[in-house]
Amino acid sequence: MQTGTINIQTENIFPIIKKFLYSDTEIFLRELVSNAVDASQKLKTLSKTGEFNEEVKDLRVEVILDKEAKTITIRDNGIGMTGEEVEKYINQIAFSGAKEFAEKYKDKDANAMIGHFGLGFYSAFMVSEKVQIKTLSFQKDAKAVQWESDGSPTFTLSEIEKTERGTDIILHIAEDSVEFLEEARLSQILSKYCKFLPVEIKFGTRKTWVENEKGEKDDKGNVKKVEKEIDNIINNTEPTWIKKPADLTDEDYKNFYNELYPFTEDPLFNIHLNVDYPFNLTGILYFPKLKNNMEVQKNKIQLYSNQVFITDSVENIVPDFLTLLHGVIDSPDIPLNVSRSYLQADSNVKKISNHINKKVADKLNSMFKDNREDFQSKWDDIQIFIQYGMLSDDKFYERAEKFTLVKNTKGEYFTLEEYKEKIKATQTDRDNKTVILYTHNVDAHHSIIADANERGYDVLIMDSPLSSHLIQKFEQKLEVSFSRVDGDTLDKLIQKEDEIPSKLSKEEEEKIKPVFESHLDTGKFTVQFESLSEKDKPVIITQSEFMRRLKEQQALGGGGMHMMGNMPEMYSVVVNSNHPIVSKILNEKSEEKKSDLTQQTIDLAMLSNGLLKGEKLTQFINRSLSLID
Ligand code: ADP
Repeated sequence: MQTGTINIQTENIFPIIKKFLYSDTEIFLRELVSNAVDASQKLKTLSKTGEFNEEVKDLRVEVILDKEAKTITIRDNGIGMTGEEVEKYINQIAFSGAKEFAEKYKDKDANAMIGHFGLGFYSAFMVSEKVQIKTLSFQKDAKAVQWESDGSPTFTLSEIEKTERGTDIILHIAEDSVEFLEEARLSQILSKYCKFLPVEIKFGTRKTWVENEKGEKDDKGNVKKVEKEIDNIINNTEPTWIKKPADLTDEDYKNFYNELYPFTEDPLFNIHLNVDYPFNLTGILYFPKLKNNMEVQKNKIQLYSNQVFITDSVENIVPDFLTLLHGVIDSPDIPLNVSRSYLQADSNVKKISNHINKKVADKLNSMFKDNREDFQSKWDDIQIFIQYGMLSDDKFYERAEKFTLVKNTKGEYFTLEEYKEKIKATQTDRDNKTVILYTHNVDAHHSIIADANERGYDVLIMDSPLSSHLIQKFEQKLEVSFSRVDGDTLDKLIQKEDEIPSKLSKEEEEKIKPVFESHLDTGKFTVQFESLSEKDKPVIITQSEFMRRLKEQQALGGGGMHMMGNMPEMYSVVVNSNHPIVSKILNEKSEEKKSDLTQQTIDLAMLSNGLLKGEKLTQFINRSLSLID
C-alpha cells in the first residue's frame, strides 16, 4: 500500500469546492456518470482501432444506491485505469484541474457561472466524506487498484481483488448531504442530466433481494436469496436530435417533444439543426403553441454537450427572440465553464447564434415558399416569434421581410410587398405617401371599418402585443405611414380627388357649434366641421394618431415622456356639415328636441368608437326608447 499527498503546496481545496458550489452540488452525479460514459466510449474507440481486441458488448453504467452503507456507487465496464493512470489522471491532472477551478471561483458567486463544467471527478467531494476508486484496466495483465481519499490532500493507493473490467467510484456520503441518499432525489438528478447519454445508465438500490432463480439452497435448506440485478434504464441512448432528418417522421419529432416536455400541447413545427463546420452543433428547435404570457415560455431550450445536459438558460447562445422556442441544442463547442459576460464576447458563441438565426429564417422561408396556405394557417400562432425577431435583430428583419405576413379584417394574408402593391393606388395621403389603415380591435371599430371598406379601402388587423413597435419599424423601413381607422376622418386620412362643397355657411356652423359643445366635456372633446358625403355619419369621433401614440408611449414609460405630466385623452368631434340631421338640428325650433337630437347623434358616434359607457349609456338607452315611442 502506498500513501501520499496529492500536492503539498496547496491548501485543502475541498472546503472551497463545497462552499462555493453549494447551490449546485447535484452536478457531482453528472460529472461522475459522464466520466463513466466516456470510459465506455473510449473502449469502443480502442476496439475500432484494434488496441482492444475483445468484443465490446453490454456496455453500461450503473448508479447504485445503498442507503444502509450510505454510499452511492457509479460503476462502469469501460477502459478502467492502471495504478499509474490513477496516479497520473486522478492525483495530478484532475487534481490540478479542480484546484484551478476552485481558485478561479473563490471570489465569485456560484450563480454567475454557467454549467460549472471542468470540475470533474473532484466534484465528488462536494457530497462525500470519503471517496474510493476501485478500478481494473482493460490492458492485458493489468492489476486492479483502489484509491481512497477523505477529502484532504492525502490519499492511499493499493492493489485489490477485482475481476471485472472497469471502474467503481464509491461515494461515502457526508452527513450534510444525506438528501442524495434518497432514491427519488437521485432519480430526479439522473433524469435531469443523464436522460440522453449515449451509454445505457441503470439506476437502482442495492439490497433488493429476490429468490435465486436456479433454486440454490443455503446451509439451512432455504432457497438462497440473491441481490436483485439493477435493470432500470433511465436514459434514451439515441435521442432524436442525433439521428438523420431523412430517417425521421413528423411523428418522431412530436414524440421527442413529448419526451422533453411531457403533458404539453403538440408543437407547431420544428427545425432540425445539423452543423459540422466551422463548429459542431446538432439540435432540434420547436415552435410551440404560445400562450399569452411570453415570459413564462422562456428557458425551455435545453443545452447539451455531447448529450450531457448542461443548462436550460440559453440566453446569449441563441438569439434573444428565439429563447421563446423549445427544444435542444447540443454542441461540444460552446464553452461552458465561463461567465456570461465572457460568453457574450466569445466568437464561437456569436457564430452559433448567427447560424441559428439564419437557419430559423431559412426554414420559415421555405415553409412559406413550399406551402403558403399551410404557412398562413400557422401565421397567427407564429407571428409573435417573427415579429419579435424582426424588432430585435436587423439581420432577421432582412431575412423575414420576404415571408412576414399581414392580415386584413377580411382574413386575407399578404406579404409586405404584396400589401403595398394592393393599396398603393387607392390609399395615399396629401404627400402621396401610402397610408396603411389598421385596427387593434375589429369589434370595437366595426362600423368605421365598414365605412372604410365601403370606400374601397383596406384595413389591417394589428392586435399583437408587439404591434405598436412593429408599426414604427415598418414605417421606417417601408416608407409608408400607418393610421388607426379612428385616427381622423377617412377623407382626411386618405387623399380625395375632389372636395365636397359644404351645405353650411360659416355663420351656420358657428351657430351649431355651441349646441354640440353644450353636450360635451370641452376639455376633452373639440368640435369641428368637415364637409363629408351625405352618406357619411352625422358625427364622427377621432383621436389623432400622433397624440395616441405619445400617450401609449407614456403608458409604457418610454422616452422621458413623464416630463410632460399626464397627457389628457383628447378627441375630435367631427360634425358632417352635409348630413341632413345636422341641418335638422340647425333648423329645429323646439329647444328640447334640438337638445335630444344633438345628444343622440353624439352618443351614436361615441357608441361606434366604444366610448359610450356608464351613466351616459343608460341615458342613451332610455332616450332611445322614448324616441321609439
Ligand atoms: P475530465 O473528465 O474533464 O478529464 P475528471 O477530473 O473528471 O476530468 O477526470 C480526470 C481523468 O480521470 C479523466 O480524464 C480520465 O482519464 C480519468 N477517469 C475519471 N473517471 C474515470 C472512469 N470512470 N474510468 C476511467 N477513467 C476515468
